Amino acid sequence: METTLDTLITLFAKLPGIGKKSAGRLAYHILETNRNYAQALGDTLHCLHDSVKQCSVCGCWTESDPCDICCDTSRDRSMLCVVEKAQDVRVIEESREFPGRFHVLGGLIAPLDGINPDDLAIGALLKRVREEKISEVILALNPTVEGDTTALYIQRQLQETGTSVSRLASGLPAGGELEYTDRLTLARSLRGRIVMR
Ligand SMILES: [Zn+2]
Repeated sequence: METTLDTLITLFAKLPGIGKKSAGRLAYHILETNRNYAQALGDTLHCLHDSVKQCSVCGCWTESDPCDICCDTSRDRSMLCVVEKAQDVRVIEESREFPGRFHVLGGLIAPLDGINPDDLAIGALLKRVREEKISEVILALNPTVEGDTTALYIQRQLQETGTSVSRLASGLPAGGELEYTDRLTLARSLRGRIVMR
């Protein structure tokens, strides 16, 4: 019969980057450290999905809808930074280089994996650009085949709106992930963004 400890190890092993061995280390660590930690961890996980929601405007994770960034009147409302996933917002916020607001796509176009433009928040992006009178869209997408495909698709869709569309400049490693980029590299890439034509 599977013990509680076995279950915990199996659950941890499902997390990205955690193998069976690390899962075991984590589970034993939690068991052997003080009880309060395990309790706090459990309580936080328990209410995670109820407390944290997606912002109905930009799609980032938030506890109040619309999120603080969307509500912040001091931000430049003419600029939108488009990212693949909600956690990319945090990375760009930490670079402190971007004064505008965000738009989360929820993935990248990848026909081989069955992910088409309609599966992503691209329609919502076009709507925002038109309705919110956005004058500049910055595509902060990973420099991968999927990132390039998505950027090109969005650029074409936005062409008729007359909005300026740019992508992050070099400095980002080819095939790399935004999430793992250090702050300085990201700051440089934002500053040196290239306008797409
Ligand atoms: Zn928002």
